[in-house]
Amino acid sequence: MPKKSAAISRKKFLSDQRTALLELKNKLLAEIDAEIKAEREANKDEGMDTYDLASEERDREINVILSDRDRSKGQQIDDALARMADGSYGVCDSCGLEIAEERLRAMPFTRLCRDCQQDQEREAKSQRRFDDGRTYRKLGSTDADEESP
Ligand SMILES: [Zn+2]
Repeated sequence: MPKKSAAISRKKFLSDQRTALLELKNKLLAEIDAEIKAEREANKDEGMDTYDLASEERDREINVILSDRDRSKGQQIDDALARMADGSYGVCDSCGLEIAEERLRAMPFTRLCRDCQQDQEREAKSQRRFDDGRTYRKLGSTDADEESP
């Protein structure tokens, strides 16, 4: 394969990913919108007319309604779009290698390649094991040196 066509397919891939990210974002915003509408309905009885909210107020409202999970997902999507804009999209945060395109297709806003993700999960697991072990040892000891609340 000549270099030129690889560059073109990469460009096509990135534009597909951008579309996927924007779709995800739209979907998230639509879900949030639906929640806000439901909230408005619920507030109607209290005589609140929130229909012509200024955008600043609306943003505040969104922040109140948004769960942490939604917020962090929206953040991840925005981050991915920003990385796309500065050209660092698709590069693993941890090892700096390119993330496989099929992985990016499945998870358009991932920041880690599969290996680093697995390493991180393994690390999290062994960290938990380490904590468990320490708790276990503590149970049998009379050491007054307390670390946990
Ligand atoms: Zn990596």
